[in-house]
Amino acid sequence: MTSPTTPTPPANFLRHIIDADLRADRYQDKRWSGKPGPARQQQAGELDPARIRTRFPPEPNGYLHIGHAKAICLNFGLARDFGGVCHLRFDDTNPEKEEQEYVDAIIEAVHWLGFDWKTPTEENLYFASDYFDDMYDFAEALIAAGHAYVDEQSAEQIRALRGTLTEGGQNSPFRDRPADESLARLREMRDGQHPDGSMVLRAKIDMKSPNINLRDPVLYRVRHATHHRTGNKWCIYPMYSWAHPVEDALEGITHSICTLEFEDQRPFYDWILARLAELGKLAEPLPHQYEFARLNLSYIVTSKRKLLQLVREGHVDGWDDPRLPTLFGLRRRGYTAASIRLLCDRSGASKSDSRLDYSLLEQAVRDDLDPIAARSVAVLDPLKLVITNYPEDAEEPCTAQINPHNAEAGLRHFPFTRELWIERDDFREDPPKKYFRLFPGNTVRLKYAYVIKCTDFVKDADGNVTEVHAEYIPDTKSGTPGADSVKVKGNITWVSARHAIPATIHLYDRLFTDPHPDGGDKEFLDFINPNSKRTVQGWLEPGSYAAPGTAWQFERLGYFTADRETSTPENPIINRTVTLRDSWGTTAG
Ligand code: ATP
Ligand code: MG
Repeated sequence: MTSPTTPTPPANFLRHIIDADLRADRYQDKRWSGKPGPARQQQAGELDPARIRTRFPPEPNGYLHIGHAKAICLNFGLARDFGGVCHLRFDDTNPEKEEQEYVDAIIEAVHWLGFDWKTPTEENLYFASDYFDDMYDFAEALIAAGHAYVDEQSAEQIRALRGTLTEGGQNSPFRDRPADESLARLREMRDGQHPDGSMVLRAKIDMKSPNINLRDPVLYRVRHATHHRTGNKWCIYPMYSWAHPVEDALEGITHSICTLEFEDQRPFYDWILARLAELGKLAEPLPHQYEFARLNLSYIVTSKRKLLQLVREGHVDGWDDPRLPTLFGLRRRGYTAASIRLLCDRSGASKSDSRLDYSLLEQAVRDDLDPIAARSVAVLDPLKLVITNYPEDAEEPCTAQINPHNAEAGLRHFPFTRELWIERDDFREDPPKKYFRLFPGNTVRLKYAYVIKCTDFVKDADGNVTEVHAEYIPDTKSGTPGADSVKVKGNITWVSARHAIPATIHLYDRLFTDPHPDGGDKEFLDFINPNSKRTVQGWLEPGSYAAPGTAWQFERLGYFTADRETSTPENPIINRTVTLRDSWGTTAG
């Protein structure tokens, strides 16, 4: 199914790059020992069976969101399409913020999205912290070769000499100290003899470089902190910009794909790899970094800090709240993994930042579910309809297709009886123009059953309609020869009151009312949609309950799924994933 909003075909410049690399046989001599390691180990390995290697490198300091899905689909998708493999690597070089809980959640989320990192012979699940020994060894080699030095200036002094975007920096007084001295200091740093912030290891590149990232960037800092995997073994930790190229190279990554904000880091990425290759530490061919534009969607925020604030301050009910753009929130809401992959694929890969409309995500899930979701009837705002000329205890079966696009899915059966639930909105005492549903004197079809004529209604003391009365017209039942004998303009859904399953239904909507809630100087909390969650008591078609993970299309209403945390067959709790049509902009509720 394609929608009118589908950009076809999605441009993806990364495919062209990989295609050209493979045509040029750039990796045909690449060796791989079967696991990450330095040059010595890789060169003794076999020819790499993977044509390319990519990686998804999350920091285990939060839950994955729709933006991460984009990076996952790109990295795993490119590896799949080009005969390569994609590693899942936890970039756990920041001891303070990382936890096992996030590691487990990320593994679950990537699997749920439909990707795997294992091959018959390789695990390919890696942790940057497993490379701390190699990184340290490389750091000593850089010092010995005159490419790095220990700087004992304070952070403020370092900052003061760094220069600005328009002015070059100045050399640190420690820059030209003998290598032996730097080596001794680095060992003391490693051995815990210096407090946090007292000294750093810096690369020796060029303090006058127009690219600030090349003005002797910091490689190691002292942090007396317990790491979730290495415990207290280390009290120096590598900076991201130093760790990342080393991690990529140790893993034999060919294409290191990251978001645009790392473009200015690429010269340093290349510098580090070139120096370590010269020193015989890293095997050729070296990885290359390529940058693509992040996935941004309107009406959401994805910053970890802001998501955390929404959870902590109770604006939503946890990390998997169905209104959050976290992968667990989307899953709970009823978004399928396929729909998220579809959105990511449709958005391609580009070099310029843009913001996709949220409706593209909604359209992706409709397109995914339409051909596969079972149809069913639900009544969300129930009003009693009594068929006054139908016998009290009679009941007769009606049938409908489970999915009109797929005859093989078969039929569903549900009973017609005297008392039914219909949507309150399907009756009007005083109908507006062009209203074709129930009002006194009008005829409509009860979908899959009879044509009925509205005869009367009952109101309570406050003037609310509590019951509608109608008479059915025999011989008009759907699927019988007389079905078309009475022409009607309206077709309404219903469930038998005696048989319907009571259910709690959460009607979710966008969490923010502004398309760019955290744009410019805006305070995103000012734009929380007060109607983002409405809960109603409704009725489901008998026999229709399906466990969480299965989607329904409730006819005329949208796509829904049972809530994976709270729903049971005895007490169904249902989440609305998306309405059938994009109603945003006309009604916000
Ligand atoms: P942080 O602000 O903590 O760095 P992050 O979103 O970058 O947050 P990471 O765990 O570092 O979190 O992200 C893992 C990978 O996902 C990175 O390669 C990153 O570039 C990518 N990624 C994150 N957000 C997006 C996004 N919106 N679109 C595409 N890729 C993204
Ligand atoms: Mg990051």
